[in-house]
Amino acid sequence: MASSASMMMGAGSTLRGLLRKQGITPASVLGQVKRNLNLSQGLRMKENTPSMDSSCFKIVSPSVLEIPIQDQQGLLKSLYVGVHAPVSSQRPGNGGLRLWSYDTEEDAVAECAELSRGMSLKHSIYNTGFGGAKLVANAKSLTDVPSICKQKLMEDVAKALHSLQGSVYTGCDMNTNFDDMRYLNELCPYVLASLDSTIDANRSTAHGVVGSAVEAARILLGGHKGKRFLVVGTGKVGTHVSELLSSLGCRVSCHDVDPSRADIPGCENVSHQDWWLAPHDVLVPCCSSGIITHAAAAHLRESGETKCVVGATNIPFASDEALQELVGKGDVVFVPDMLSSAGAVLADSIEHFSKEEYESARDNEVYAFVQTLTRDKTTEYLDRTQSSQGSSARPMAVLATVHEDKSGLPVGKKFTTFVNGEESQYDVVVVGGGMAGTAASYYLSKLAPDLKVAVLEAGEIADPSGSSYGESRMYRRMYSDEYFSVMQSKALDLWRDVERESGLSLLKENGLLFYGETDTGETVEGSIPGAAEIMSKLNIPHEYFDHHEKMDAKWPMRSVPGYEGVYEASAGSINSSLACRAMMDLAQDAAGHDLFTNTSVLDLGIPSPGDVRITCADGKLFRSNKVVLAAGAWTNSILGHLDAELDLELWAMHWGHYRVDPELKHKYPQWFCFRKEVPDLWDGGLYYGFPCEGDESVIKVGIDFCPDHPEFRMRDMADYVRRPNDKIVKLIDDFVRENWVGVGERVDMYSSPYTCTRDQYFVLDRLPSHEEVTLFTGGCGRAFKFAPLLGKLLAEKTLGMAPSHDIAPFSAARECVQWPKVKAMA
Ligand SMILES: Cc1cc2nc3c(=O)[nH]c(=O)nc-3n(C[C@H](O)[C@H](O)[C@H](O)COP(=O)(O)OP(=O)(O)OC[C@H]3O[C@@H](n4cnc5c(N)ncnc54)[C@H](O)[C@@H]3O)c2cc1C
Repeated sequence: MASSASMMMGAGSTLRGLLRKQGITPASVLGQVKRNLNLSQGLRMKENTPSMDSSCFKIVSPSVLEIPIQDQQGLLKSLYVGVHAPVSSQRPGNGGLRLWSYDTEEDAVAECAELSRGMSLKHSIYNTGFGGAKLVANAKSLTDVPSICKQKLMEDVAKALHSLQGSVYTGCDMNTNFDDMRYLNELCPYVLASLDSTIDANRSTAHGVVGSAVEAARILLGGHKGKRFLVVGTGKVGTHVSELLSSLGCRVSCHDVDPSRADIPGCENVSHQDWWLAPHDVLVPCCSSGIITHAAAAHLRESGETKCVVGATNIPFASDEALQELVGKGDVVFVPDMLSSAGAVLADSIEHFSKEEYESARDNEVYAFVQTLTRDKTTEYLDRTQSSQGSSARPMAVLATVHEDKSGLPVGKKFTTFVNGEESQYDVVVVGGGMAGTAASYYLSKLAPDLKVAVLEAGEIADPSGSSYGESRMYRRMYSDEYFSVMQSKALDLWRDVERESGLSLLKENGLLFYGETDTGETVEGSIPGAAEIMSKLNIPHEYFDHHEKMDAKWPMRSVPGYEGVYEASAGSINSSLACRAMMDLAQDAAGHDLFTNTSVLDLGIPSPGDVRITCADGKLFRSNKVVLAAGAWTNSILGHLDAELDLELWAMHWGHYRVDPELKHKYPQWFCFRKEVPDLWDGGLYYGFPCEGDESVIKVGIDFCPDHPEFRMRDMADYVRRPNDKIVKLIDDFVRENWVGVGERVDMYSSPYTCTRDQYFVLDRLPSHEEVTLFTGGCGRAFKFAPLLGKLLAEKTLGMAPSHDIAPFSAARECVQWPKVKAMA
């Protein structure tokens, strides 16, 4: 195996050679510059541009002009402007200002020419409306760079750009930053660096890379979800790329020479090893050029893991030999960086050609557009690669064929149509496809069938990462709180409608036994005496067990002396995943609601009343008048975009399945056990179980308590630990085997989130600060049983109708759900 040192070398030396191989022949040099800038005629611009000062320039190569510089005590040797493709004030050259040190002036000139040629290709692939340009400042040495007076440099650049009168624009590149550009912009207007907006070139680039990478995964691997992406280099671009890929459900590994930078939530840091050893399907270089040396390429080939290379790095291959080593056999595809890493120039195109829209747009709308563009261009590129045999080994030749028609509109001008597109306009957008989102959609389809409604779900309907996934949720009127008992009666009527309309059997009347200690006081699930009292008051039929032996005689249990119980025969379980699917299907069938799964909302903005703008991680854009926010445990991450936050605590709740004696298979009831907590053991005392479903001799068991520890209680799903905790698993193992007869091995164990409020009531209301937003959250481990009623109430609230049930206890304005941001707004 090659050493890491040999794999890392050779980055810069081949940059030139590779650019030459990109299929762009150097145009007839001086003539090009003369043609573009009309230098031969007394340095006058083309017809419609005024004159400029010829003393500013010296022509040093066919496409490069040298600009006079002020004295910097020898620290700065020279400054060049490279102009490749035909440029004019209508189609200006655009390329960053790079401050670097070159061995010779020839090297600096050559780099300037080649980079401007590279920019030319990037611009023409997308028809950005720009031509290729680049500015290169040559420092005496790299160590001198910090000592160079940037102000003087910017003054020199400004003078040159003024003289070119709008034919060349610039922005940041290596060793130049926003402060430099801000100063430059004070001196001349020919700067494209998002100075007056919060749009970030690194984020633009990252979104472009993600659009390209995800599309490549779709075409080459059948999809991106669950596929392994290795991001090499987690600087500003790589970090955003990793976060975005992770939010799209990819398995992301991160590598950086500074390992601490590769600690990104939801991703695995693999910096402890050489990057090429980390398993991956898609390699995403976001580091310096030439990372893929010949030896690294040979290793990747041998491992046979890499299917595709697509990233942000300019020229990721150290040599043409390295490129051929990896892609030469045609089974690994390289999406050239000219295509995938074009996000920043695409944003420039919007900034220049759709100035007004750019200034009023939300940042994420710009990023979404960028993502759409790189995605579409990747489709086109890969179509061409796949349609001609052997072409995947000649990426640059294929790339040369995907140019846009320059006679068409510059791509930035299409931003307006993208943002205002009719297809993305809805009356109501529902965010979240769990219980609340699907129920809301179902009732919107009943109460307002003519509305155009979209449901956006980050994963699948009743996604396993959320709170609604699984085969069973308890329904019961057996509550210590009369309010919930009455609510259940109403909800049961509506459940019957769902079953009838869908033709599915969703509810199963198992009966439910509350049993255990009678002196627990009121727990999160009530208490045995409390429930018995309310059922008596409301005339709900029930049976009371005043002695533990009476229960042991009826069910295969070993209850403790002193335990008592109360049984509600009319309680049972709801097939939760199936119920969500059923409600969604009904909404789609009845009112044509559009469902977008694997569509994660990245941004929610309401710039003016009734103008809800939603952008998604995959670049989809939605506009609506109203939004139903039903994102469960993720509510606050979305509310944050509206500068709001509720006081919600997320609990990691364990549940799993156990084998039981087949002889006893039909004997287990649905049960809930109340015991006092033993904090030292992390034992909250509340356990529950469901009878066997279907043919399997397997019962489901879970807990209804959550130790007061950061591993189990958090405010942000980014901190959620999915892996079940061994200590909690052992508590459940011990409980179920000690307390129930015939229980054998554990089959599986999961952890799913509860979203809890301090008073254990839900939040179902309009957001106080934005009446366009109706939200449901804070299900507190008990909301499923009420699903159709909650959906009806959400729909009524959204449509401005009077609620058909008293929802005052669920107010978003109540004190106990206020968090500083909400309080501050009130
Ligand atoms: C283990 C467990 C047991 C339970 N037992 C019972 C019970 O017996 N009886 C009972 O009545 N209740 C029970 N509950 C509670 C009940 O299941 C929940 O209250 C209910 O399912 C919550 O539904 P939801 O729609 O609010 O949240 P979720 O089901 O979590 O739905 C939220 C959805 O939003 C999506 N989302 C998040 N962020 C985004 C984004 N940015 N863009 C797009 N989509 C996004 C998520 O992927 C998710 O699918 C239990 C809950 C759990 C976890």
